[in-house]
Amino acid sequence: MGRTMTLITRFAPSPTGLLHLGSVRAAAAAHARARAAGGHFLLRIEDIDQARCRPEFAAAITEDLRWLGLDWDGEVRVQSEHFAEYGAALAALRARGLVYPCFCSRADIARAAAAPHGAEEVYPGSCRHLSQAAAARRIAAGEAHAWRLDLARAMPDAPLLLDDEEQGRIRCDPSSFGDVVLARRDAPASYHLAATHDDALQGVTLVLRGEDLRPAAHLHRLLQHLMGWPAPRYAHVALKLGADGRRLAKRDRAATVRALREAGAAPTEVIALALA
Ligand code: GLU
Repeated sequence: MGRTMTLITRFAPSPTGLLHLGSVRAAAAAHARARAAGGHFLLRIEDIDQARCRPEFAAAITEDLRWLGLDWDGEVRVQSEHFAEYGAALAALRARGLVYPCFCSRADIARAAAAPHGAEEVYPGSCRHLSQAAAARRIAAGEAHAWRLDLARAMPDAPLLLDDEEQGRIRCDPSSFGDVVLARRDAPASYHLAATHDDALQGVTLVLRGEDLRPAAHLHRLLQHLMGWPAPRYAHVALKLGADGRRLAKRDRAATVRALREAGAAPTEVIALALA
């Protein structure tokens, strides 16, 4: 007799702007899956990038979700309150020689690591070749540094598999990320480490999010393997396009829940718009 696992999904917005229809699409889909399965729908505020995130956006997002009727279970997890936990995960990878310090310029790091979205440039690996002594000296001298995954060392010999609801059980291939930043020079974690850590901690069994993050699942699967964290299933919703056929951006005020509310739309209408 098999035990059925409770389905646990989540919505994990970064509070860098108001909630828009693209995010509502992902949130509504995850919420519906959880409710249909008698599972849990969790809310997590991904605010590790303190330069871009604002508490007032986090407050507005939770208020809009409540108004939409996308009720979540349990407490909201706010990532900026848990930096020490992400630091501990990084320390575990450091102890195993799977990450190395990178002293490259802010511009390099911004290109390689800033956001979970968009094309990331693969880091050429310059700092991978620094001797341990040289790296230790620069750290001791207080030089700012990020920590990068040594991808070649981190990849297991045996193929690692990833469960993607649309693509099936596929081979995990995070090579497009290269030696990705796991801890930034200005924050003790990157999106990838913090999100994967929290999905494991919160017992998430289904990661459902926008399809722009489909490649990220490959990297997250590798981190799960390295850290001994369970592997959730992944599913993706198509990105919501604006009237101009381009992907909705947070700056498109007309497509925010706030603007639609103010224009008199009902919650069900906003959700229907997001899903259309
Ligand atoms: N915080 C990310 C974002 O706002 C989403 C993270 C995720 O769902 O894994 O795009």
